Amino acid sequence: MQMISLKAPAKINLFLRVTGRRPDGYHDVYSLMCPLALYDMLTLTLGGTGIGVVCDHPGVPQDASNLAALAARLFLTTAFVERPLPVSGLTIHIEKKIPVGAGLGGGSSDAAAVLTALNDHFGKPLSRPELMALGARIGADVPFFILGAPALATGIGDRLNPFLHLTPWTALLVYPNEAVSTAWVYKNLNLRLTKGEKKISKFHFDGRFFNVDEHLVNDLEPVTEGAFPVIKRIKRLLLAHGAAGAMMSGSGSTVFGLFADSDRAISARTALCKNQQSQNWKLYVADLLIQGPVVAHVRI
Ligand code: ATP
Repeated sequence: MQMISLKAPAKINLFLRVTGRRPDGYHDVYSLMCPLALYDMLTLTLGGTGIGVVCDHPGVPQDASNLAALAARLFLTTAFVERPLPVSGLTIHIEKKIPVGAGLGGGSSDAAAVLTALNDHFGKPLSRPELMALGARIGADVPFFILGAPALATGIGDRLNPFLHLTPWTALLVYPNEAVSTAWVYKNLNLRLTKGEKKISKFHFDGRFFNVDEHLVNDLEPVTEGAFPVIKRIKRLLLAHGAAGAMMSGSGSTVFGLFADSDRAISARTALCKNQQSQNWKLYVADLLIQGPVVAHVRI
């Protein structure tokens, strides 16, 4: 049986502006997204019948609803329409390292890694733009992970322009052990928008220079923070321990601090681990992957 090993990276949003609501229920965003050196480890075993998933995390479905399984099915049925399938089935093993429901895009990244690996393995029947369009049907963040490089995202997050002017920050990620549903956050953002509660903050990004003092803005943060005040506490702690800036990623609940190098990030992690409140939290030090591509896979 053939096996393919994959690494699926996490992401953070260095800024996330919600620019509008669309009639289909989605929101338009303007976001600077960056992959991180924190990876789920996947193994695809080709053969058998049907598409199976085995995962070591209780919060991740092990059936056809798993985003990695959805990706495999969509790829095989699209790339081999009116042609015999090149494989009778496959099993996807997922070793989950990226916290789930954390705003780090783990599920989307798993799906992107599966799409990219299967496309490469079967001789690239789909072009990169076709693969990204397929990914967008699974989730708005999937095309970003197929691109595999820092990018400015517009539309629902699926229109991407690579952004290669980032400083090599090291992030200290703090996941407060609170899984957050992205759908819930957007629903509550809608309520705030309807009530006119959302403050219009000044934000100007010239498309070239990302400045931590000016651009670290996340429009979803006040919504998630309203339900999970721990987010504010973590931000304060990260800043007190030397982060150049700190913010929630995506819809949360992970908060990241940016540090000039890994030594400073590791010292801050040590200090935070001593804090009573942090007993439940999960802390990760991970470099920003400021150059693409990052979805690596090898055949065994
Ligand atoms: P997003 O901001 O894109 O929603 P997230 O990081 O907040 O991402 P994920 O960790 O991707 O959230 O998981 C969101 C939901 O997707 C969870 O409820 C989980 O059960 C489901 N899910 C399906 N497949 C996967 C997968 N392969 N890995 C993680 N979660 C998955």
